[in-house]
Amino acid sequence: MSDTTIRDTVILGSGCSGLTAAIYAARANLKPLVLEGHEPGGQLSITTLVENFPGWPEGIQGPELIENMKQQATRFGADLKMAHLVSADLSKHPYELNLGADKEPIRTRTLIIASGASARWLNLPSEQALIGHGVSSCATCDGFFASGKEIAVVGGGDSAMEEALFLTRFATKVTLINRSERFRASSIMLERAIAHPSIQFLSSTVVEEVLGVEEKDVRGLKLRNVKTGELSTLPVAFLFLGIGHIPNAKMFHGQLDLDPDGYILTHGNVFPTHNGKDVPGVFACGDIQDRRYRQAITAAGTGCMAALEAEKFLEDHGR
Ligand SMILES: Cc1cc2nc3c(=O)[nH]c(=O)nc-3n(C[C@H](O)[C@H](O)[C@H](O)COP(=O)(O)OP(=O)(O)OC[C@H]3O[C@@H](n4cnc5c(N)ncnc54)[C@H](O)[C@@H]3O)c2cc1C
Repeated sequence: MSDTTIRDTVILGSGCSGLTAAIYAARANLKPLVLEGHEPGGQLSITTLVENFPGWPEGIQGPELIENMKQQATRFGADLKMAHLVSADLSKHPYELNLGADKEPIRTRTLIIASGASARWLNLPSEQALIGHGVSSCATCDGFFASGKEIAVVGGGDSAMEEALFLTRFATKVTLINRSERFRASSIMLERAIAHPSIQFLSSTVVEEVLGVEEKDVRGLKLRNVKTGELSTLPVAFLFLGIGHIPNAKMFHGQLDLDPDGYILTHGNVFPTHNGKDVPGVFACGDIQDRRYRQAITAAGTGCMAALEAEKFLEDHGR
């Protein structure tokens, strides 16, 4: 299909919400176009073992789960394209999607936004090399793998406190590492963490390097005190990042209602609004509209809902 034709459904993102939407939309014969974006396969493609996605009693590698979803979507006619949405015009229907100056814009009757929220990383080469091998940004997902180990959490806000407290269920000791002297978490969360006997605090400290790249397994952290410059080593077996997420929705600023952190606000799970009013034919699913659960199964669930709503919209408004 040429991109000058008007599409029935374009899906923004190829993580588990976008691919689930693609499976449903393709099976409804909508021939969805999936724009894969800067991270084809989404967050699961950078992780290793996923043990909590139903149907895989022994667990499944994240990239394999995503590859299965892609095959399932393409089998029914979904069209996957390596492209990144730069901007969108949602002011007139059909909607126009701009993929960059040298590319033909795409027009579509329905748009499913499944662009996710990318975890913030420290961006150290050693940290990036060990994602899925003892470095994680998801305590709910990977806490179990930290059972019986001494671990570290980076961050000083509420999400870092929440992760640290949650991880005490598994880890024998949790060290919270914060760049500034003061932890900016709310006093209630901070008090809870301070009161916990397994949590210790290291302030004015940054991670310089994650040790264990050669062994492909976290062996410790090289730390630097930002006040004194003193270097030290912390022997931990796991590093969790608790420094937040960046929702991939900046191309919808001013066109959809976003929360103060930039997540798309929805009602009924998948219906975004603009100035409080529905935007016909636009749906949002997965982590881009869910800052609470952030799980593959919840992302897949809302991906299914978004596709069913897109199908219903097209039925009601004529294709
Ligand atoms: C290290 C790690 C381990 C995890 N482990 C588990 C686990 O064990 N179990 C579990 O349930 N969950 C786990 N999660 C969470 C899970 O991966 C997410 O909840 C899930 O991936 C969210 O799916 P999504 O489709 O909403 O978004 P994402 O997976 O983030 O996908 C977003 C997609 O949008 C695309 N995109 C973004 N911007 C644009 C744009 N402008 N144009 C086009 N495309 C765009 C990206 O390229 C990407 O394909 C883990 C997450 C991480 C980071």
